[in-house]
Amino acid sequence: MITLHVGMDDTDSPRMGCTTYVASLLVEKLLAIGVSFIDYPNLVRLNPNVPWKTRGNGALCLRFKCNESKLEEVKEVAVDTVEKNSDLSYTGTEPGVVLFFGDTIPEEVAAFSQQAIQGIVRMKDALKLVRLFKAEAFGFKTGRGIIGALAAVGETLEDDHTYELITYRTHENCGTKRQVDAKSIFRMDEKTQPSTFNNVDPETKRVLITPRGPDPILYGIRGQTASIVKKAHRMVRCVEPIERWTVFRTNHGTDAHLRKVAAIKDISAYNPVVVEGKVAKPPQIIPRRHIVFAISDATGQIDCAAYEPTGLLRRKAAELILGDVIEAYGGVRPASSKRPLTVNLEKFRVINLAQKLVFANPFCPNCGRRLKSMGSRKGFRCDKCGFRSAEIKKHSCEVNRDLQKTLYVASLRSQRHLTKPLSRYGFENKGKPDRLVSQRFWVNERLK
Ligand SMILES: [Zn+2]
Repeated sequence: MITLHVGMDDTDSPRMGCTTYVASLLVEKLLAIGVSFIDYPNLVRLNPNVPWKTRGNGALCLRFKCNESKLEEVKEVAVDTVEKNSDLSYTGTEPGVVLFFGDTIPEEVAAFSQQAIQGIVRMKDALKLVRLFKAEAFGFKTGRGIIGALAAVGETLEDDHTYELITYRTHENCGTKRQVDAKSIFRMDEKTQPSTFNNVDPETKRVLITPRGPDPILYGIRGQTASIVKKAHRMVRCVEPIERWTVFRTNHGTDAHLRKVAAIKDISAYNPVVVEGKVAKPPQIIPRRHIVFAISDATGQIDCAAYEPTGLLRRKAAELILGDVIEAYGGVRPASSKRPLTVNLEKFRVINLAQKLVFANPFCPNCGRRLKSMGSRKGFRCDKCGFRSAEIKKHSCEVNRDLQKTLYVASLRSQRHLTKPLSRYGFENKGKPDRLVSQRFWVNERLK
């Protein structure tokens, strides 16, 4: 028996497909060949801030043991399934498949994956590793998907991870409105959270588990364990048929993309960061109701933006004042002709709040009535007793801040796949699952 890791990426386009679906089809074919899975299919979200990302930027890896005599058949089926289910005629869809052999993933490949999740990697680095470790790579067109395919192989999700059960629509229903009973989703959410997360947006009462596009996903339920997402799935009622479902182990909701930098000068475009700084330019509303402010440290200054759809995060960012110290979390947009390098906030933590003072006219020392200003730097006068003074100063008083020293996160509807929601803090998963839930992580409903 040999251990095989099959990575794949970049099969979809904005008009069709989804690499998770291709992986799900491949699971069925591999089981028919007789392989035995050693992990749930891994769905690895890569850096959401790379400029050439696919939709959602998710790559897949299937890990299993198989008899050496089946190896040729496995390869053929894997490459063939990717080829037949990719939108090859779409410009920019450049599928890749990587076959990696062996029980352990070398450190170099793991490091490559980390860089693909947190930064930018290049094709030539991927190909170098493929050669070095005698893996096999298949690319269609430019084969750019080989990068993500290798990155998925290298991320074994032994740190924090979550699960997602994805249900798929039948081919003829793709592109039509999804027929899922919203009430049953709200009920499921109530009964299963916080073990499941991001099912619905409590602020807008919108369902979040169903995507909108022409892709084959009917809905995806995210949660802490494989069994909870299966349980939650059984609570959802839908009118249209489900073709199949698969449970994936993922880095969703783990903040895996964010890397802490020690200084503002170390921030670079496309590399998501966590960075501390003092508010150096107060929040300003820019067109389309986005909020922009700047933070600084001894090494430099950088803009931070909270976009309108981030809801609560934007409202909280608007309350920051000069001198507040925060830790900013988010992707980094390159400088443009209109704006400098900017952190697009996904969350921020208030480390320290500055004093917020309001100034008011002083009271009359004779009669106690509030004095009237006689104009800028001309002093004050009392309307009641006639007292005047050029020396008396405005008095200041501290006002309560609405912000707390805590973490503020974008509203659920605008969280990225990788953003760790508040509900998961303190509930991180570690290690590999010791067993699959009796291989029942996958079902083709038509075959039942
Ligand atoms: Zn007076």
